[in-house]
Amino acid sequence: MPQKDRAATHAFWLAGRQATGEASFDVTSPWDGRVVGTVSVPTEAQVEEAVAAAYAVRDAFAATPAHVRAAALDHVGRQLVERTEDIARLISAENGKPIKWARGEVGRAVSVFRFAAEEARRFNGGESQRLDTDAGGQGRLALTRRFPKGVVLGIAPFNFPLNLCAHKIAPAIAAGVPIVLKPAPATPLSGLLIGELLAGTELPAGSWSILPVPNDRMPALVQDERLPVISFTGSEKVGYAIMDSVPRKHCTLELGGNGAAVVLADWASDEDLDRAAQRIAAFSNYQGGQSCISVQRVIADTSVYDRLLPRIVAAVEAQVTGDPADDATDVGPLVSQDAAERVEAWVQEAVEAGATVLAGGKRDGASYAPTVLADVPAGVTIAREEVFGPVLTVTKVDGEAAAFAAVNDSKYGLQAGVFTRDLQAAFRAHRALEVGGVVIGDVPSYRADQMPYGGAKQSGVGREGVKFAMDDYTYERVMVLTGL
Ligand code: NAD
Repeated sequence: MPQKDRAATHAFWLAGRQATGEASFDVTSPWDGRVVGTVSVPTEAQVEEAVAAAYAVRDAFAATPAHVRAAALDHVGRQLVERTEDIARLISAENGKPIKWARGEVGRAVSVFRFAAEEARRFNGGESQRLDTDAGGQGRLALTRRFPKGVVLGIAPFNFPLNLCAHKIAPAIAAGVPIVLKPAPATPLSGLLIGELLAGTELPAGSWSILPVPNDRMPALVQDERLPVISFTGSEKVGYAIMDSVPRKHCTLELGGNGAAVVLADWASDEDLDRAAQRIAAFSNYQGGQSCISVQRVIADTSVYDRLLPRIVAAVEAQVTGDPADDATDVGPLVSQDAAERVEAWVQEAVEAGATVLAGGKRDGASYAPTVLADVPAGVTIAREEVFGPVLTVTKVDGEAAAFAAVNDSKYGLQAGVFTRDLQAAFRAHRALEVGGVVIGDVPSYRADQMPYGGAKQSGVGREGVKFAMDDYTYERVMVLTGL
């Protein structure tokens, strides 16, 4: 019998209150298979009740004073701080994420709720424009404020089970827009926990629901006309299928990537190369590479390549693998054995096509060893797709233009990192790279929760980051005053 370390069945959150349905499913640890919790599944009638309640409360929620919404968001932020260890353990258990990274994720979610509280206080003060710049506008003034597009359907992935739920729900509350949030089936407990933290607040009933709806019932929710805004974070395949199925809805898609770290010729001292290697090793492997901005491709100038490569291999081999609950662990398991087997198959395909394994290349159950591949032929899957595992490829290029072209030789464009101290090269990178974010002097894996975040090309549509999500959930409505 698998052991349960949280015996109770977890209720879901229907219009701000706890509820249980008729069916349930177990959430298991990818590390040892133990049951971490059992989650109740809402019935169709309960999902209908949540959507109807969100729809009904639209106007009332938009009219809720900013101080009430900000206080609720601050309350969640404080609870997250107080319960950091507890919540980090939960994330680590259900996701397999090493505990030190899980603590970092809680810290990120704290920032999201705090930023959202601040934005709630300053959002939508209104902007005015004089219209008497033409004779026809004499005596008129335009006043613009933002209003909700309608109820948001938020859909979150498994890899940051707390923080990516926070990125959907906190901006909605800050902007006074009701939300129905669906966490990922592999990791619903961290998302549901946000409900516990919101439950003691004064937000109107119906303004938020957190529902672990099974994937096969999601199309009905996606089609529901009372939910005109879909904010999706997850895979390219599911994201575009959703958008294609509802072309008239407003969809924000935060999708995958195969992040590149470029090392230019000026990043050449021993110290520089050590730092680049450390950062690359850490951020190709953190969360087992299951981050949309993991380092997947290292693109290094010929002049530094031979000195950089052994440093990367050594730093990757120094990554500590093992039990995610252990403080020393850098790399835990992937989310499932299926995921590790897929990574194994992609590496195998690359090796059969001529790639060289310089580190790792082995699977053990759901765990895959931190891996470095060189000489990877351009056409193989791992060179084209998002690996979402602890594998990086290294490529040698001649000069900056070739490096930037190599970054852009991808269907994805989420973020890129460029190791350089040359200010002009930094501006050239910013101009040339077809990505949503360019990080100078570091790996592509840096994200601050207030900055605009999202992809170019097949990495997505639209931007998150607290204020940007609030803009996304709302639209400008102008009022023209006459006779002034
Ligand atoms: P996924 O696409 O399998 O699932 C994402 C969510 O969609 C889950 O909640 C899932 O239950 C739901 N879903 C599945 N089928 C659905 C359907 N038919 N209709 C509606 N919803 C449905 O992705 P995942 O495996 O959970 O996450 C990994 C992916 O997420 C990677 O590609 C990663 O790059 C991407 N990601 C992107 C960002 C970003 O901000 N750009 C951040 C994190 C993860």
